Amino acid sequence: MIFSNPSGAPELACDACGCRWFDRMSGACYECATPVSEESQAEYRQALETFALRRREQEETAGHSS
Ligand SMILES: [Zn+2]
Repeated sequence: MIFSNPSGAPELACDACGCRWFDRMSGACYECATPVSEESQAEYRQALETFALRRREQEETAGHSS
């Protein structure tokens, strides 16, 4: 599952136990060893891109006003 942290950045969490700690080498949860599906990883990358894009837009808007 994917959720946003307090700063608005997306975080990838384990579908099985909800923890946010993943072993990036094996692509599995540290807590329960559930593998992260390719689908979830793709979804997370998409969310990261959207977040980066939105933050850039905000920075550009802030830059124009100063
Ligand atoms: Zn887990």
